[in-house]
Amino acid sequence: MSDPIDRKGLTPRFWERKPLAKLSQKEWEALCDGCGKCCLNKLEDEDSGEVALTRVACRLLDDESCRCAQYDIRHQFVPECIVLRPDNLDSHAYWMPQTCAYRLLWEGKPLYDWHPLISGTAESVHKAGVSVRGWTVSEFETPEDEWEDHIIEEPT
Ligand code: SF4
Ligand code: SF4
Repeated sequence: MSDPIDRKGLTPRFWERKPLAKLSQKEWEALCDGCGKCCLNKLEDEDSGEVALTRVACRLLDDESCRCAQYDIRHQFVPECIVLRPDNLDSHAYWMPQTCAYRLLWEGKPLYDWHPLISGTAESVHKAGVSVRGWTVSEFETPEDEWEDHIIEEPT
């Protein structure tokens, strides 16, 4: 499967040369590794603030491509879907998946070798087992009081 994200023509290792706030729109978009994990439903402990990801996927997630099935018009169906930007990353990084490139860079960590910008192929994310491909369950078929049974351990 070809990479659905346009990563052509970018300066090698641009994310190591520029702060997140200085990235172009194309560079910002290219940081997404396409794992799909930010489209999983989360459980947040009100007291501790701890966030757990579950395998219960947003209704619009296609877990074969790991992409949103209606990205351009998704807010018509899922108004709460976040548009991640450099200026709101501070308030969202805490719930992003541990392997998410935006979170890693926000934490001052390097990207993993399986990131498409390093490996040169989007398939490396799936091969490394860090995407949601093939293992989500539907939020329509999974009542919210059962989400706890679907918490996933994130690879770190
Ligand atoms: S978790 Fe991060 S890297 Fe993965 S799809 Fe979401 S934004 Fe992209
Ligand atoms: S609406 Fe699309 S982008 Fe937003 S969480 Fe759902 S699948 Fe992901």
